[in-house]
Amino acid sequence: MSAKLRLTAWFTLMMLLLCAATLTFVFVVNGSAVADDPQSQLIARVDRNARKVEFENGRFEWEDLKFYRRGVSCWVCDADGAFLQGVRPDGLPELPPEDGALRTVSGGDGPYYMYDVYVDMDVTGLWIRGVISTESRSGVMHTINILTAVLLPCLLVVTVTGGWGIAHLTFRPMEQIIGAADAINDDRDLSARIGLKKGPIEMRRLSRSFDSLFARLEKSFHAERQFTSDASHELRTPITVILAECDRAKRKCETKEDFLQSIGVIEEQGQHMSQLVQELLGLTRLQQGTTRYPLQRADVSGFVTSCCEDFLPADDRGITLTTDIQPEVQATFNPSLLQRAVYNLLQNAYKYGKPGGHITVTLRAAGHGAALSVADDGIGIAPEDQEKIWQRFWQADPSRGEDGGSGLGLSMVQEIAAFHGGRATVDSTPGQGSTFTITLPRR
Ligand code: ADP
Repeated sequence: MSAKLRLTAWFTLMMLLLCAATLTFVFVVNGSAVADDPQSQLIARVDRNARKVEFENGRFEWEDLKFYRRGVSCWVCDADGAFLQGVRPDGLPELPPEDGALRTVSGGDGPYYMYDVYVDMDVTGLWIRGVISTESRSGVMHTINILTAVLLPCLLVVTVTGGWGIAHLTFRPMEQIIGAADAINDDRDLSARIGLKKGPIEMRRLSRSFDSLFARLEKSFHAERQFTSDASHELRTPITVILAECDRAKRKCETKEDFLQSIGVIEEQGQHMSQLVQELLGLTRLQQGTTRYPLQRADVSGFVTSCCEDFLPADDRGITLTTDIQPEVQATFNPSLLQRAVYNLLQNAYKYGKPGGHITVTLRAAGHGAALSVADDGIGIAPEDQEKIWQRFWQADPSRGEDGGSGLGLSMVQEIAAFHGGRATVDSTPGQGSTFTITLPRR
């Protein structure tokens, strides 16, 4: 049974129970009020009036009497039956009073029930006579009849239809979400989104949660696929070299020196592979978002200064590193990632810098964040390559990769900048040098 049907069945049942309970309550608690027959009403009214008559100081007092109420007309007559006061419908026959007698009389607007009560006050007495049309029905009962026969079924129909409608509207987006999720699952198309724009707020939130889940999944699958393809592609060359070297060693190496030379080649390739896998894993994890990199708002000036002091170039080639750091700049960053970015940029600046040249690290407050740049006066980058340098494994001169480069350094820098909500850019002139800038906006 669908939730929609369950919900509707539930409040229909509750509605029926409520109706039944209301009716029972009215009938049981207010039983006297719903006495429907006109005779009972007449007798009750006349008796009530009879009880209210008082005789004081030789006079009758009947101010409290109700002469007309709910179809019952009453009037007072003296002991001889002469009319004194009250409401008497026209055209009724003048019958002699008879204590406690309930009679049916014709006249006026139709047949009436007539009832007399004698109020005896010892010295004297008076008659109270009441009449009610034989067709009269109690107001309460009439209302209940209408309610039962017309209003309640109408109310029931309105409630059930309204409830079904609301349930339908509420659950329709859910069906949309299920449909979209199934379609994504069937087509294996993680780029599709539910994107629910209308509907109850809870459903829109659910749709947003699903969409962000799909976005994460898509990112994660994409990163995984990229990792697999990159790893298999990039590891192919060193593996081939290792296998070839092993083959060569088996066939040609005769002396210990020959073997050591072959092992050296294998070791170098092994180290290259290890570095590559590590960098690739770091990059993939950052893209996948599987590893947590907590952000902190801190003094980025001091942090960048210490990064520059701690950095040890593989080969400084007589290059001088200077810093131009604005003090006490605050930014939101992850220390280990920012350090990796600074190191990558410095590594490149030393690698592609001019022997005996200069590297300048600059930090400035920008907006509520910071802008960090690393400038060198080295070989520079051709304008047509400036877009490509951010791609994985791209190298202007792959032969330089042998000194430790894998072509992943700048991809990592770009990912780190994006992780911080910023950007990594380059400004370079071939033969004059390059300036790489990372922005760290306030998050
Ligand atoms: P790697 O340095 O390991 O080759 P990167 O991703 O760090 O890989 O850099 C990609 C390419 O961008 C480099 O191979 C080089 O051609 C170019 N490049 C990076 N930094 C500089 C720089 N400071 N000056 C000139 N070229 C650079």
